[in-house]
Amino acid sequence: MKAVVVNQEGTGIEVVEKELRGLKAGEALVDVEYCGVCHTDLHVAHGDFGKVPGRVLGHEGIGIVREVADGVTSLKPGDRVSIAWFFEGCGRCEYCINGQETLCRDVINAGYSADGGMAEQCIVTADYAVKVPEGLDPAQASSITCAGVTTYKAIKVGKPQPGQWVVIYGAGGLGNLAVQYAKKVFNTHVIAIDINDDKLALAKEVGADYIINGKKEDPVAKIKELSGLGAHIAVVTAVSKVAFNQAIDSVRAAGKVVAVGLPSETMDLPIVKTVLDGIEVIGSLVGTREDLKEAFQFGAEGLVVPVVQTRTIDEAPEIFKEMEEGKIQGRMVIDMHSHSCGCGHKH
Ligand SMILES: [Zn+2]
Ligand SMILES: [Zn+2]
Repeated sequence: MKAVVVNQEGTGIEVVEKELRGLKAGEALVDVEYCGVCHTDLHVAHGDFGKVPGRVLGHEGIGIVREVADGVTSLKPGDRVSIAWFFEGCGRCEYCINGQETLCRDVINAGYSADGGMAEQCIVTADYAVKVPEGLDPAQASSITCAGVTTYKAIKVGKPQPGQWVVIYGAGGLGNLAVQYAKKVFNTHVIAIDINDDKLALAKEVGADYIINGKKEDPVAKIKELSGLGAHIAVVTAVSKVAFNQAIDSVRAAGKVVAVGLPSETMDLPIVKTVLDGIEVIGSLVGTREDLKEAFQFGAEGLVVPVVQTRTIDEAPEIFKEMEEGKIQGRMVIDMHSHSCGCGHKH
């Protein structure tokens, strides 16, 4: 089968032919339909979390179960399932049993510590593959598998009330979905901030009440003007220290800053404001299986519509290059059934 893997130097990607091993107990074989390309894939490919040469990338996979190992009861052939970053937890530790399974210290991540979904087939741990509900387009579901559930969870941990003000820093692939969950699911007033007008225009199109270009005006002053005291919740998807610092300044007393983006820097957290205003800073990492189930359902109901563009697996090197250059709008999704071999068939 064709697969997008980390190259032998552990510094980039290549498209290769790869043999899949047989199924072990508790596993299922999935024919992958779509797999989104995420910034985390870039980090893995570059060895930022440690080099993993030969690893199949991809944690935004959606596919149809072809076969299950003996004894598997949670899935059956024909089910449509996800291949997510949270690929498997230990199932026994305090995090796994108290509803914070993504924090499991023995977690396995698709496309990093297990072979992921950027291939024609993928082996999943059956009990951890979340089913995709009827009525949700599989290409769009791939986006919800990572970007969607990540932003849904990030807003959820901020516990917004209807009518409150939510600011989304960064209007890229994550931010665009954050705007939709904040507006359509949580019923809040949404302000999107970015330094790219095209991304802001898209944010406005999908439901942002206000957009602010941080290069052209001061987001903190504008947020206070619009919301009165400041935002109740600021979700930072931007990979920028500046955005994190502005987020702290833009929330009102008892406000929450939810950190999602991963710039390799520290943020400046003023102790006086944190104490006197009772600010909370919360790190949020993807979402649990239950969060993903919820995030999928809102997609199936049409409340959240990921903006996706499909490409072929052979275009993977170009997609990664475009992502490095920050040229991507919405989400790039690899369609595993369409090759550019020139034979004219979809296969
Ligand atoms: Zn991702
Ligand atoms: Zn665990």
